[in-house]
Amino acid sequence: MLSRAFHVVIVGAGMAGVSAATRLRELGFAGDVTLVSQEDEAPYDRPPLSKQFLLDGDADAILLQPEALAVQAPADIELIRGNPVVALDARSRELKLRDGRELHWDRLVLATGARPRALPALARLPHAQTLRTLEDARAIRQTLMPGTRLLIVGGGPIGLELAAMGVQFDARVTLVEAADRLMTRSAPALIAEHLRRHHEDSGVDIRLGRSVVAVRDDGHAVFDDGACVAADLIVVGIGVQANDELAVQAGIASDDGIFVDGFGRTTTPDVFAIGDVTRQRNPITGRFERIETWSNAQGQARAVAAYLADPDSAAPYADTPWFWSDQGELRLQAAGAIAGDEQAVRGDPDSGRFSLIQWRDGRVVGVAAVNAARDFQMLKRLVAAGSRLRPEVLVDPKADLKSLVAAAAVSSTPA
Ligand code: NAD
Repeated sequence: MLSRAFHVVIVGAGMAGVSAATRLRELGFAGDVTLVSQEDEAPYDRPPLSKQFLLDGDADAILLQPEALAVQAPADIELIRGNPVVALDARSRELKLRDGRELHWDRLVLATGARPRALPALARLPHAQTLRTLEDARAIRQTLMPGTRLLIVGGGPIGLELAAMGVQFDARVTLVEAADRLMTRSAPALIAEHLRRHHEDSGVDIRLGRSVVAVRDDGHAVFDDGACVAADLIVVGIGVQANDELAVQAGIASDDGIFVDGFGRTTTPDVFAIGDVTRQRNPITGRFERIETWSNAQGQARAVAAYLADPDSAAPYADTPWFWSDQGELRLQAAGAIAGDEQAVRGDPDSGRFSLIQWRDGRVVGVAAVNAARDFQMLKRLVAAGSRLRPEVLVDPKADLKSLVAAAAVSSTPA
């Protein structure tokens, strides 16, 4: 049964918040929907910020608004911009905006996202910054040009995507990563090694196992081994932390990530959370984790919208986590776990196109593919199905993954 009309307030207008708002309308939700954004900008998509936007600076091309907020009549979704929520009272169901305005909500969706972790050694330096917002990307774009000495701190997707862009700009790129390999959080070691070679071959100077301890007055960054690197621009991409302060203040359970179930429900009735700010059960690892991906933000948003529109027919969100990262000519796509107890390569890494598949207890639990999009789509489905297909079957170049997937789908259908 469709819910009666009530007021849904969504805090945060990133991919998660905008998707939830528009999905509510697509599902015929008849109540009021208010989307509150702390940024002045119209809502935009973040993945291009470290890629295409740096090349063309076309902010209109990355707007989420045209397809989203104008679903039906313009007034369908009220968008409040540049006015962050500063206080939340879960008991009285009120929240307060920075300009003093108060909003009453019947259901609240927290989609406040995450913010880049700061590096104390680089705080308050005029030429050091992070890359998360359109404003950040605009600032980087202004400085990045042929010959710019670009120092990137952190070898995750932000650092590596930016490194590839730096190379395209003919900048002189140095990347320093504290761990002994790249992409520690989101890719297997073998893939990380492939990425390292790819970026080094393109001219990026990569320093593994190193960190920046200070920046001298002349702008040189000093590493923990004493080495100095001159930098015109320093970009820090060392991970994110959840923007969960409102939830914590309101007594909602959070530990650098608001705990939610498959419907986005928090520990407080009628308060939901979606996107990077959440901590949810990862269906592959079984642990409560922050799943920091664009696809997760969308999937959770759709599940919450379905629950709000009609709780009786909604299904919990439990998709296999996956993401992609474009790093110059290289497209990495990964799904599921980054490590298991057995792994095998399909394809030839030297050809630049291959997939690394992970098994745990005999089941396929993860895949990371480099420039192998078709194989990835099939292998991702085997991960989701928890397939028991053996390594020798999946790495066989003659194996037709499509038919194996079709067979796996049949065999995993409950009797
Ligand atoms: P990350 O957590 O993926 O990677 C951070 C890296 O920085 C890690 O390798 C870590 O070992 C390293 N590091 C930590 N402290 C360091 C230090 N003091 N010095 C040097 N290295 C240090 O985070 P990110 O790359 O900053 O990305 C931020 C967020 O943006 C993530 O949520 C990410 O998923 C998202 N993002 C995703 C994509 C994509 O999926 N294509 C692209 C860009 C950003």
